[in-house]
Amino acid sequence: MQAEDRASEIEQRERDEAIARCRKQPVESGNGICRDCFESVEVLRGNAFRCVSCQQDFEHRQRIKHGGRHV
Ligand SMILES: [Zn+2]
Repeated sequence: MQAEDRASEIEQRERDEAIARCRKQPVESGNGICRDCFESVEVLRGNAFRCVSCQQDFEHRQRIKHGGRHV
């Protein structure tokens, strides 16, 4: 009985790890299209979500959101 419990425990853990591995995969990855303006993103930024100008815009907005008052 004990050994069986141990085995199923390991099996369970392995299954959990496999699920965790799957979840760690990025849900969305850059597909070459800017998610803000839907222009194609330069190949250099092939795994980026946004084109350069939208990314800068996004970062600017983030900065404002997170304590922009200090600037
Ligand atoms: Zn864009």
